[in-house]
Amino acid sequence: MSAKLIKGTEVREEILEEISAEVAQIKEKHGIVPGLVTILVGENPASISYVTLKIKTANQLGFKEIQDSQSEDISEEDLLALIDKYNKDDSIHGILVQLPLPKHINEKKVLNTIDPDKDVDGFHPVNVGRLMIGGSEVRFPPCTPAGIQELIVRSGIDTSGAEVVVVGRSNIVGKPIANMMLQKADGANSTVTVVHTRTKDLASHCKRADILIVAAGVPDLVKPEWIKPGACVIDVGVNRVGEKISEKTGKKIAILKGDVDFDKAKEIAGFITPVPGGVGPMTITMLMKNTLKSLKFKLGIA
Ligand code: NAP
Repeated sequence: MSAKLIKGTEVREEILEEISAEVAQIKEKHGIVPGLVTILVGENPASISYVTLKIKTANQLGFKEIQDSQSEDISEEDLLALIDKYNKDDSIHGILVQLPLPKHINEKKVLNTIDPDKDVDGFHPVNVGRLMIGGSEVRFPPCTPAGIQELIVRSGIDTSGAEVVVVGRSNIVGKPIANMMLQKADGANSTVTVVHTRTKDLASHCKRADILIVAAGVPDLVKPEWIKPGACVIDVGVNRVGEKISEKTGKKIAILKGDVDFDKAKEIAGFITPVPGGVGPMTITMLMKNTLKSLKFKLGIA
């Protein structure tokens, strides 16, 4: 293998230690800790396991953590009132509504009700606008793109003037990471191309990339011959391609694959993220970082 592995699991620990130290300092000086509420509607198993991990991480960091579980049949009006209650609660700095929501609830309306200054997921139109403007306007960069940028920067990769090609244009990954990498800022200043299903020659764009960020949700979409030798490859894709028995627990677990043919790509790339263990562990980590940031804004020390 020639590529250096970018291990999200290790970078996560580094960042969590930094957050933990800051939380302790703020607690001592200001007598307050970051407060995060997670609102979970219904009992979607995938949502429950994700939320459980969020709670565990928040508790580990010494946050105030509220898990607010609501039944599947909560009315839209009651859910909006609940969000409003947390908007007004001074001990809460981050509000997270776990998606998907039941069909009778308008997801957009719910997300837009969250106070933009507590929207630690960064999906509120106000925060999307702040991200687009860049610089000191930015409050909460969305968590997965923020994690991607941390992985690139902490791996010592020079982004200034680099050709960045982003495969995918979703609102949660492709568009925000493209926007972040083109900002006039450290860890950015890149020349960015975004490609998608209507792009005429995907391969030719990928071949130019010094940094190739792939978020398509198609297993093995990116072929090894599309990778520029020495490039940094960030594989965001998480695709379930089968099941196996875990050696650790003896239970059935999903076999996950990224959007890049990892086994061959690692012989050509200079840096590459594995799936799992690359981008995945960064999302919750950045959510914690955003919640801490929200408290720091409130205290005027951000
Ligand atoms: P999405 O909303 O489905 O968007 C996928 C994007 O990829 C679309 O813009 C689509 O183009 C493009 N695309 C799909 N197939 C393509 C192809 N054959 N050629 C070129 N472009 C193609 O997905 P997403 O939410 O961004 O997620 C992408 C992947 O990242 C998924 O596997 C998801 O599970 C994973 N993910 C991981 C994390 C994490 O690790 N924490 C977080 C979020 C997402 P069009 O716009 O033209 O349809």
